[in-house]
Amino acid sequence: MKKCAACARESGDKKYCRYHAKALEQLKSHYDSWVDAYDDGSAISWQDYLTRLQKMEEAGQWVREVIEAEMKKER
Ligand SMILES: [Zn+2]
Repeated sequence: MKKCAACARESGDKKYCRYHAKALEQLKSHYDSWVDAYDDGSAISWQDYLTRLQKMEEAGQWVREVIEAEMKKER
């Protein structure tokens, strides 16, 4: 059993547990709509997007944790 990259829950053969996988899904679909909204050439990168979201008050706990794990990976 693997552990989730963002917490200590077992994640089966996946990278994230179901809670963090869901948070990542939401992040990705939100990112896609964000990028579409900014297609005047000022589109932000995935990393910039994560950095911005992390600073937002309304980002939930799952989202924050998954952002942290994603940012670690890219380093
Ligand atoms: Zn998790």
